[in-house]
Amino acid sequence: MCSSDLTALLMSPIVPRLIDMHCHLDLYPDHPALIEECDRHQVATLAVTTTPKAWRRNIELASRSSHVRVALGLHPQVVAERKSEIALWEALLPEATYVGEVGLDAGPRFYRSFEDQKAVFERVLCACAEAGGKILTIHSVRAVGQVLGQLESRLPPDRGRAVMHWFTGSKSEARRAVEHGCYFSINAQMLAQARHRETVASLPLDRLLTETDGPFTQADGRPSRPSDVAQMLPDLARLRGVTTETLQRTLVENLRGLVTPPIAGVRPSTGRGGDGRILTDRG
Ligand code: MN
Repeated sequence: MCSSDLTALLMSPIVPRLIDMHCHLDLYPDHPALIEECDRHQVATLAVTTTPKAWRRNIELASRSSHVRVALGLHPQVVAERKSEIALWEALLPEATYVGEVGLDAGPRFYRSFEDQKAVFERVLCACAEAGGKILTIHSVRAVGQVLGQLESRLPPDRGRAVMHWFTGSKSEARRAVEHGCYFSINAQMLAQARHRETVASLPLDRLLTETDGPFTQADGRPSRPSDVAQMLPDLARLRGVTTETLQRTLVENLRGLVTPPIAGVRPSTGRGGDGRILTDRG
C-alpha cells in the first residue's frame, strides 16, 4: 500500500458493529473505562448529558475516542432546579453536533415544572433550528403529543434531526413522528412490553436505532453498558422478520443516514464536539 492509500485509510470512517444512541456514560463510576470499552467493542455511543455543566468534562474524556460522541443536554427532569442553565446550554451549542437529553416529562414527579420544561424545550428547538444540522435525542414521557407538536412547529426536518428516545407513544403518534422524519432508539425494556413491541414492529426499518439508556436500565442484574445492546438484537430481528446480521447492518446504515447532513449547504458544526459527519469518524 502506497502512502497516499494509507492517508485514505486514516481518513476513512471506522465502521461500528453496534449502536447505543442514548447512554449516560457520566453517571457510571468508571466513565473512562466505559469509553475504552465502547472503542474496544466498536459500539458507536452517544454520551448524553443532563446538564450543560457536564459538557466540558465529557468532551475531554471522549476527545480521543473513536466511537464515543457527546450530546449537549438539559434534561426535562432537572429543569425545576436548573432552568437558568439554558443560557449556558445556548452558549455551548455552537460546539455541539449532538443534542440531548432534552424534551418533556409530564409524569407525576415532574409535572410541577411542565410549564418551565416547555419554555426550555422551545428555546432548545429554536436554537437548533437556527444553527442547523444538529441531531437531537429526545425524552417524551407522557408528553409525546406535545413533543411532536413542538417539533413540528419549531424544528423543520431540513433544519435538524430528531431521535425519539424510549418512545412510548401510540401507533398514530409513531406515524406522526415518522412523517416528521424522526428516528427511534429502541431499548430492551421496550421490547418486554406487548404494547410497545407492537409499536416497534410498526416503525419503518430504516428509522430504527438501538440504545441502552444506561445506567437507568439493567442487563444481567447490573446497570446496562453500551455493548449490552447486542443482547436485544436477536429479539428485535425476529420481531422485524430479518436476520440478526441484516438488522445489525441496517442499524449501522441507519446511523450513517441520520448523521449525513440533511440538506446540501447545511453542514454540522465543526466544534470540539466532533465533526458530526459520522458518529464514528476520528478527529
Ligand atoms: Mn436518558
